[in-house]
Amino acid sequence: MDPHPRPGSGRSSFGGLEASSLYCRRCQKAQPVRRKLLLVLPQGEKFAYYCTVCGEEVGSKLEQAQAPA
Ligand SMILES: [Zn+2]
Repeated sequence: MDPHPRPGSGRSSFGGLEASSLYCRRCQKAQPVRRKLLLVLPQGEKFAYYCTVCGEEVGSKLEQAQAPA
């Protein structure tokens, strides 16, 4: 049992715009969303957002990989 979180398994210093709620067409209103990692691409990570109420996919986004300085 390793008490320390593995590097790469989760980023605690997550900066960037985080969508916390999006319009859900099934609920016909903005709902809190859950983010799911779909793909890891060379240019970034593809995420999809799902309504936490009905589970409908409400959006997706490609998060750019951090460019090396
Ligand atoms: Zn919904």
